[in-house]
Amino acid sequence: MNIFADNIMKDKVVLITGGATGIGKGIATLMGQYGASVMIASRKQPVLERTVDDLKALAIDADYCVCDIRDPAAVEELMKTVRARFGSLDVLVNNAAGNFPAAMDQLSPNGFKTVVDIDLNGTFNMTKGAFDHFFKSVGGNIINISAPFAGWGVAYQAHAAAAKAGIDSLTRSCAVEWQSLGIRVNAVAPGAVSNTEGLERLSEALVGSNNGSTDACQAEDIANSVLFLASDAARFISGEIIRVDSATGVDLLKIPMPADA
Ligand code: NAP
Repeated sequence: MNIFADNIMKDKVVLITGGATGIGKGIATLMGQYGASVMIASRKQPVLERTVDDLKALAIDADYCVCDIRDPAAVEELMKTVRARFGSLDVLVNNAAGNFPAAMDQLSPNGFKTVVDIDLNGTFNMTKGAFDHFFKSVGGNIINISAPFAGWGVAYQAHAAAAKAGIDSLTRSCAVEWQSLGIRVNAVAPGAVSNTEGLERLSEALVGSNNGSTDACQAEDIANSVLFLASDAARFISGEIIRVDSATGVDLLKIPMPADA
């Protein structure tokens, strides 16, 4: 069922980090089905290739670029590749992230740094790259993928919560600084999303047991929210963090840590 008008993203170019898997692939697929040309970027070429094949099988104009978003030089090359392949950029979706469950007393400085580097610094690098190469002269649209627990305490996710809280802050600051340039910056904060690697990696004790359940949140539910924010229907929305979890994220607070269970 089409929720939005057909071809609502026609002639738009969308760049999605981590677009080969999970939620990112859901966003790439939905954007493409509504007419966008799609560039996906992450580190593993075979995974990127497979997803681009899947997108092309749906008649979506899609391509990929291998890029580690922690590396500003690689991000520069990615922006040049987008320019060479599609000529412009309309929407950047900062979706790539790293995560693993770890209690604070087990979390190494390197583990904390790795997640902050991918999630927060990677989002910064991509945002700067898209601004410098495309958006500063013609405007644009940035949608960051956050998480509800950035706004409250959560066990075993101090690293991810800190990184996502930084992303939320960056979202609001960029929205204010760039409002006059016609650049909107928002975030979508998904709760637990079924059938994603991200959810698989986290223990059931942390996220509950709805993985795979058909009435749980699906990647498409997140993609629909991203598409709404990318569309003109949201033309006066900027600096917002939209939680898409049907309030289930609040349950994270109630789940006992394994040691107490
Ligand atoms: P996922 O499938 O593990 O996706 C993460 C993606 O990021 C992968 O495609 C990965 O590809 C890419 N990536 C990781 N490090 C990278 C790097 N240094 N440079 C470029 N790309 C990199 O996870 P997901 O569950 O779909 O999550 C997607 C987003 O939603 C994340 O921001 C996550 O925090 C957020 N989220 C997910 C859930 C959930 O329930 N799944 C809940 C709340 C928030 P490579 O390994 O090939 O680089």
